[in-house]
Amino acid sequence: MLERLFYCDHYEIPLPEGHRFPMTKYRLTRDLLAQDGRYRFDCAPMADRSLVELAHDPVYVEQFIAGTLSAQAVRRIGFPWSESLVRRTLASVGGTLAAAEEALEKRWSGNLAGGTHHAFRGEGSGFCVFNDIAVAILYLRHHRGIAKAAVIDLDVHQGDGTAAIFEYDPLVLTLSFHGRNNFPFRKQRSKIDVELEDGAGDETYLALVEQFLPRVFEFEPGVIFYQSGVDALASDTLGKLSLTQQGIARRNEIVIRACKAYGAPLIVTMGGGYSNPVELTAQAHANVYRTASGIFNSWTSRSAPL
Ligand SMILES: [Zn+2]
Repeated sequence: MLERLFYCDHYEIPLPEGHRFPMTKYRLTRDLLAQDGRYRFDCAPMADRSLVELAHDPVYVEQFIAGTLSAQAVRRIGFPWSESLVRRTLASVGGTLAAAEEALEKRWSGNLAGGTHHAFRGEGSGFCVFNDIAVAILYLRHHRGIAKAAVIDLDVHQGDGTAAIFEYDPLVLTLSFHGRNNFPFRKQRSKIDVELEDGAGDETYLALVEQFLPRVFEFEPGVIFYQSGVDALASDTLGKLSLTQQGIARRNEIVIRACKAYGAPLIVTMGGGYSNPVELTAQAHANVYRTASGIFNSWTSRSAPL
């Protein structure tokens, strides 16, 4: 049976020449996964505005959708505003919502976008407009009766928006691994923050993952979100860490295997990835979904391609 993954890369966002966001990585990742023949790719539905407002200030939501945010607020997001940006943003949130629904039924699912963890309740930043994971957590709480949720955020940048949204919410555990000397320079307080020094490599990183992961399950979440950013790769132009492709693959395997053993539905989202060339980022993103598919379908880990 084909596993469903959700995508929104067909909504093209016009970016100025030389913009540093690697927009092509989403399509490249989907193309790589399509070669496996194991997935059904569903176009992500646009999230309903009322659901976005579960995690965001309605004024901010209105201003973004209408294109009336201040120039400063748009600059902070990092993408020029356009109607296609609105469509793609809503579809990116919708993809995580759809993946959450799917995971309730099939134990795991993935959005080939999302993980936009720098979005706060009332403003966006760092290429993030709305916080798809926060919206999905609150959707599951209010509409599906799942009270407790955990976010495992292994993007190299702190999940500051997610941390802030849930800072005083006892029903959400936020775990963020990130570079101490990297964006955002003013850190928020996740429930658990693990800070890495520049240049940290596979061994240090993986030992910390093994050390902190059990804390997620001790919290007894009813659902788990994995923000699987791949900007910890040595080839990443923004990451400042030194993980190998094998290291990232091992990281995914440790996390996903432990989540499967724990037994709550798992939703995998993307996150950052700025390797040069972009193919290295796409390869690392594809690995996350391949690893999840392999583990949930009990392939041997060796048969899950890197
Ligand atoms: Zn990042």
